[in-house]
Amino acid sequence: MSMVKGWCPDAWHPMAAGDGLLVRVRPPLGRINAAQLIGLSEAAAIHGNGLIDLTSRANLQIRGVSEQGWRPLVERLVSLGLTNADPRMEARRSLMVAPEWQAGDDTARVAEELIGRLAELPELPAKIGFVIDAGHAPQLIGEAGDFRIERGAHGGLILRADGRALGVDVIVGREVDALIALAHWFVASGGSAAGRMARHDARLPDWAEGHIAPASAVIPVRAGAHPLGFAYGVPFGQIEAPTLAELATGAVRLTPWRTLIVEGDAGRPIRGLLHDPLDPLLRVDACPGKPRCPQASVETRLLAQRIAPHVDGRLHVSGCAKGCACATAAHLCITGRDGHYDIAKNAKAGSPPVRAGMDMPALLAYLGVY
Ligand code: SF4
Repeated sequence: MSMVKGWCPDAWHPMAAGDGLLVRVRPPLGRINAAQLIGLSEAAAIHGNGLIDLTSRANLQIRGVSEQGWRPLVERLVSLGLTNADPRMEARRSLMVAPEWQAGDDTARVAEELIGRLAELPELPAKIGFVIDAGHAPQLIGEAGDFRIERGAHGGLILRADGRALGVDVIVGREVDALIALAHWFVASGGSAAGRMARHDARLPDWAEGHIAPASAVIPVRAGAHPLGFAYGVPFGQIEAPTLAELATGAVRLTPWRTLIVEGDAGRPIRGLLHDPLDPLLRVDACPGKPRCPQASVETRLLAQRIAPHVDGRLHVSGCAKGCACATAAHLCITGRDGHYDIAKNAKAGSPPVRAGMDMPALLAYLGVY
């Protein structure tokens, strides 16, 4: 087993966390059928601690895997068709797909072709990712991705390098040719040293210099009724294995916005999932905290559930100053430190607090929560 430091592990390269190994699962086109859902939830319960993250890359992450359990888990994921049997190809399959794709549409067509041609890509830095966002309007404009095929404002598809506002028109059927060519240019022009396309400030080759903006974006998928079925909110981006299995009445689409779309579903009460797009828990980021993370000195998620209804705007509760759950500023940010809580406003975890060193009763009193 080879370990990867950083935040882009895959199934063949798990990452060590406080509760064991993290094994990332990248379902093809972000869709898992019912049999795969049941198999994955069984495998997460047997080889992990039964907790599964829905990540901001629209992947799943099986938590708490033991060193002995890792190999049988990966073999199960390969047999389910959720992991590539070739570790080199799996490492290249960092692909985010607009979740509302339909069979045979531009998003599905381009994504399937790219998955079939991964061997043609050069060796790229570990964090490089691809975005295929070719529906009638882009949905993934706010999501990270170095090489992007998107719907352009002119109605056709464009290839856009991350960090550049404009993209270049691509010929129908040649989109993946252009994307692979840009990846080779990135490496040949020294991009690997920069690590990400947005940090690589070399001038693009003439053929990739575009003048077409992406089309106006549509809003992300929210919890509630959806044209494909029903979208459930996933509080804190974490779901228990039995809950995942309960969704297996249809295929499930993963989104990067802490929602899961269950195809053909009418919406039903499911423990641990949210129906209401206005549920205050959908405005909360909270890392696992104490006791799951060894760096945490405070509990986080029960606290977040208790105070979320009393907070306007985004709430971030972080077990320590590292701020794993949210890298941007929240309206209210509570950070654990030495077993006590610091509060900051419009801030990230660990920012200078407006009140520091509070115990739980003092914190709740400060927030007016009784
Ligand atoms: S923010 Fe700190 S406590 Fe929370 S998961 Fe990250 S390292 Fe652990």
